[in-house]
Formats: sequence, C-alpha cells, structure tokens
Amino acid sequence: MTEIHRRAALTAIGGSLFVGPAFAQGVSVAPADFKGKVFVTERGGVRVHTYMADASGAMVTSHIVETQAGLVLVDGQFVAPSALELKRYIASLGRPIARAMLSHMHPDHWFGFALLGVEQVHAGPITAKFIAERGAAVVAERKVETKAPAIVGLVADGEETIGGVTFRTRAALDTEAPEIVTIELPQAGILIAQDVMYNKVHAVVTRQIDQWVATLKGLESRAGELPVILAGHGEPAAPANIASLVTYLEAVKPLLAANIGKEDQAKAITDEIARAFPDYRMPPLLTLGLSRALKA
Ligand SMILES: [Zn+2]
Repeated sequence: MTEIHRRAALTAIGGSLFVGPAFAQGVSVAPADFKGKVFVTERGGVRVHTYMADASGAMVTSHIVETQAGLVLVDGQFVAPSALELKRYIASLGRPIARAMLSHMHPDHWFGFALLGVEQVHAGPITAKFIAERGAAVVAERKVETKAPAIVGLVADGEETIGGVTFRTRAALDTEAPEIVTIELPQAGILIAQDVMYNKVHAVVTRQIDQWVATLKGLESRAGELPVILAGHGEPAAPANIASLVTYLEAVKPLLAANIGKEDQAKAITDEIARAFPDYRMPPLLTLGLSRALKA
C-alpha cells in the first residue's frame, strides 16, 4: 500500500491505528458454493488464508501460511463438509503442505485432519500426550469416521523460520484448554491465537477464566506489535475485539461459580448470557463448556 493509500485507509476506519472492525468485516474470497468463508490477510510480505466453517462446523478456523518451503497449516477443522471445503481450498493454492500444526486438544480442531489427507502434525507437549493416549478413544466415543493424527513434532516456546517466514510459538496454559499453542508471525504482526480468542462467538468456557482473561490482557498490551489476531472461532480480529471477550468471560464467571455441581443450569446460564450478548453466535458452544465446567 502506498503512503497515500495507507492514509486514506486509516481515515476510512476513523483514524484508528489498528485495522479493527474494517478488517473483521473483510470480504470472504471463498468459492460461491462454499458454506464456509475464506479471509486472506497479507502483511509484511506474509500471506495467511483463514478458512472459517459455517455454524454446522462451529465456525472453527484453520489458517494456511504461505512460505517459500510450502504451506503451513494450523488446525484441521471439525466436521466433514468443512474439512472437504478446506481441502479444496488448499488444493487451489497449488502448493504442498510443508507442516501441519494442532493448536490444542479439542476435537473441533483435529477431527478433519484425516479428511484433509494430513496424517502427521506438530503440537505442544500436553496436546501431544492427549492425542497419543486418548485420541483414538475420543474418535470411538463420538462415533466419527476419522482418525487421530500422529504427532511427529513437539512445539516448544521459541522461534523457527520456515521458508523465510518466522513462526514464534508460545503455549498459553489453562485458558480455554489446558494448553493452546499461539503462533506469532512477527514479520506480519499477525497472531494466530486460536481458542484463546473467540470473535463474537460463544466460548467453550472452563473454570480457568482468570487465567484466560490475564492471557487476553497480555495480548491486548501488545496491540502495537500484533495488530491482527486470528481467532479460533469467528472472523479475523484485532486487539480492539479483546475487550468484548473479556467482558463476556467476566459475565460468565460469577454465574459459573454460583452453580458448581448444577450441570442442569448450563442451558439457563447460556440463555442469560445470550440475552446480554446478542451479537454473539453459537450459544451451544457455551452450553457445552458450562456442562463440563459446572461438574462438581
Ligand atoms: Zn475450538
């Protein structure tokens, strides 16, 4: 973008330094017959494609980072129709997958890998242990036609350059999941936050709301370095979107604390939160989280 165009763009979004709402409303480039959406973010010479499933696939995201060594895929979708759309989209890019990564242990992020033809993934140590020990059992319990991926590499906190693109990984512990690997692309100012960030989508809450909020505030404080935050559910976001999720989690927290042991309250609490946050989509995700978190 030339300086003049950049200024015009900034003026167009109210002078904000961050591409906030304007970015979140970005136009999907998905083929017309897709149920899911595709957003392309290009910054600092790095291009990232975000596939977001429709509601039937929990609006879960997968991200594809283009590198000179091939594509780096983060997360593998949940339901078959979404995985098959993602597979088609990846094929359209005409490049091999150089590496696949799994951000965390929840099946909505890995059930689709087998359909993508991805059998080997890299993951953090807690996620890797879970997949190795419990992955096959989770597939059997859910009676889904898939297979757990093999973990072929452990992702530690640190930095690695793949095909000219730097990936800075850091595990967020005890937030929406026991471990969520977040991936910064420092050249681009993009953070792939996965389920640390939900963008106007009801969250699979846990009892670790304080830890989760602290992690979110840490990201908010780095807004200058990381102006783009790619959510695990919902459209690409910006640091300006974090405050809404913090408010949401802080609203859930006392209702959760007051109802421990009363799993049957999950739906009633969801209804109350859904009324307070009418622009949040997919209330069943909150009910799912509550039904677990409320167990005594
Ligand atoms: Zn998820």
